[in-house]
Amino acid sequence: MRITVVGTGYVGLVSGACLAELGHEVTCVDKDKAKIARLLRGELPIHEDGLPAMVARQAAAGRLRFSVRLPREPADLALIAVGTPPAAHDHSADLSAVHAAAEAVAAHQPRGRPLVLAVKSTVPVGTGDVVERLVRRLRPDGSVTVVSNPEFLREGSAIADFLEPDRIVVGTACARARALMREVYRPLIERGSAFVATERCSAEMIKYAANAFLAVKIAFINEMADLCEAADADIAEVSQGMGMDRRIGSAFLRPGPGYGGSCFPKDTEALLATAHQHGVQLRLVEGTVAANEGRKRGLGRRVLAAAGNVHDRPVAVLGATFKPGTDDVRESPALSVIAALRRAGAQVRVFDPVGLAQARQVLDGVAFARGPYDCVRGAHCVVVATEWPEFLRLDFRRIAALMSGRTVVDLRNCLPDAKLEAAGLRLVGIGRRERT
Ligand code: NAD
Repeated sequence: MRITVVGTGYVGLVSGACLAELGHEVTCVDKDKAKIARLLRGELPIHEDGLPAMVARQAAAGRLRFSVRLPREPADLALIAVGTPPAAHDHSADLSAVHAAAEAVAAHQPRGRPLVLAVKSTVPVGTGDVVERLVRRLRPDGSVTVVSNPEFLREGSAIADFLEPDRIVVGTACARARALMREVYRPLIERGSAFVATERCSAEMIKYAANAFLAVKIAFINEMADLCEAADADIAEVSQGMGMDRRIGSAFLRPGPGYGGSCFPKDTEALLATAHQHGVQLRLVEGTVAANEGRKRGLGRRVLAAAGNVHDRPVAVLGATFKPGTDDVRESPALSVIAALRRAGAQVRVFDPVGLAQARQVLDGVAFARGPYDCVRGAHCVVVATEWPEFLRLDFRRIAALMSGRTVVDLRNCLPDAKLEAAGLRLVGIGRRERT
């Protein structure tokens, strides 16, 4: 099948490469000339395990192309994977890129030639109806069918998530378009992924409802962590005991510095904006958004309380990305902690295994280290903000010898406490008694 993917970011590039891997002929299009130029040189604009080899393989096989322009050959399917950031005036999703991309694709398609236009970007319920109206103006013969096909991949495990999804959601009332989408994903369905055919509006809602539910789960366990800390219980034991209940499940039950990234914060806010437009109050989601915001601020205070006076003192922050396995620092909790440390006058030094280039673009007044040991040299306190596996395997005796202080704040409860204890470090975690 001939597929055009519009928007070559985290979702578009992974989807394009994986669809080529499934045997389709894919052109990834982006308006960002620099991004496409890098891809044409064989460089990847994002960090995602396994992606460089897959892109190189598919590009060499001629199944994956990159361009700033829509391809001359008509496509059977166009996937819209452009960004849907928060709007400038409120927290609703800015759909201008989705609308522009859909109009460009429809106008480009030869008249009368059928095209399924699938919106993969996360868009509020009802967006497909608006896109359909826009497209109908350009192709009144109905040759372009607008479908919702939300994406559930996670940065850091994007390829496996795309190729082995729990479910593939396709929302459309058109049987022909549904059959085409089923054919696109046939190899995945044959390998056991569920194909969930829904109304278009339901598919759009599934994505937001799923993300909001996961955000609620994170905010919930973070609240329990606060109570554990106050009541002298251990959140690790509590979440293990909770998660073994199959009705609850163990995923998303680890406390931390609050959710971040390019999806949960904006999607929960956009869902609230949609609910507001429909005159519906979502109290749980409102509470989750407020709790998460409060947590980011609160953790800054807690780091300062644990670290003591940081004024004019070096503090090392290990991790800048919102989670391991990605270079994405959008809405990363690490940034809030760094801001709190800077306000308190600390000399902040940051290290991240792959996120430093992006961190440099958003952080002012901090130093960047070449490695974790370089980062902690002379540090009064060390804060672990992202649970990169390499941080778990550090030589903590060496860390202790390099630091000027002995406090390590572990915002992810990921460090091996016994090793820190043996190295004479003071470990401050989340939702449990302090280990000294
Ligand atoms: P991104 O910012 O990494 O990439 C978006 C790309 O779209 C950019 O390269 C941008 O230049 C391009 N673009 C914007 N307007 C364009 C236009 N008119 N024509 C061509 N290209 C255009 O975004 P992302 O993280 O890949 O997210 C894309 C969508 O997928 C969003 O709606 C997001 O919510 C959703 N999503 C993201 C993830 C994730 O983990 N990142 C997961 C699931 C869903």
